[in-house]
Amino acid sequence: MTCDDIRALLAARADGELGAADSLRMEAHLGTCAACTDIATRHDAVVRALRQGLRAPALYMKAPVGLSERVMHAVQVEAQAKTGVRHEAPVARARAPRRGGSAWQRLAGWLITPTRGLGLAAGTLAAVALGVGVLVGRPDTVALTAHDITASHVRALLGARETDVLSSDRHTVKPWFNGRIDYAPPVTDLATRGFPLIGGRLDYVDGRPVAVLVYRSAQHPVDLYVRPEGGADTEPALRTERGYQLMVWRSAGMGYWAITDASADVVQAFARAVRGG
Ligand SMILES: [Zn+2]
Repeated sequence: MTCDDIRALLAARADGELGAADSLRMEAHLGTCAACTDIATRHDAVVRALRQGLRAPALYMKAPVGLSERVMHAVQVEAQAKTGVRHEAPVARARAPRRGGSAWQRLAGWLITPTRGLGLAAGTLAAVALGVGVLVGRPDTVALTAHDITASHVRALLGARETDVLSSDRHTVKPWFNGRIDYAPPVTDLATRGFPLIGGRLDYVDGRPVAVLVYRSAQHPVDLYVRPEGGADTEPALRTERGYQLMVWRSAGMGYWAITDASADVVQAFARAVRGG
């Protein structure tokens, strides 16, 4: 073994990962080479300090009440966004983490049983902390839905299925939703306001089917997602999500989510038109 070989194997030796043969050869070399012995001694001191540092109680926090539920909710939302299908993510599984499952589920398992994280290296701990920082805050359901709707809108634009029913006649579009969803979205033709109706389609948001009315503004598609939403009426509010402009409001038990890649002015004018203002 050369001195370079020895130095390349110092980390493996410190972690107890050297085979017996390499271990013997290394100790033999260290017994005769003062330079490598010096480097190995300093290397081992650094590793010891790092290990002690990682055991410091200050690095470990008790998970706040409700964290596991929030993490599992985020996992569920993520899964829905990927597949468009509602997945049940029972909390019971979070309390008894198993091997397998998605990376998010495994991460959730680690977090919920913090003592199992003791063996993690410093870099991994830092990555976990960064990843989870996003989740620890109270989940903003409006932001999650806006994210879902934007993803749905983009999928529709990229795919061939912008409309399931292609008609500028609201008397054709409105009945098309009958039997496909359990509510009747109000359908108005806004051609005189510069937003001709193109048709409609069924999409999935938050794991539920949602009526989407497809309008046009010049060459820009404007999608209006309409779904039943409890709570008081709200005034239209502008949001930007990945470069798309959204206007979101609630009226008479329905939530309205208008989205377009046109400018904020366009989506604001569209919201006024829908509201008959
Ligand atoms: Zn040496």
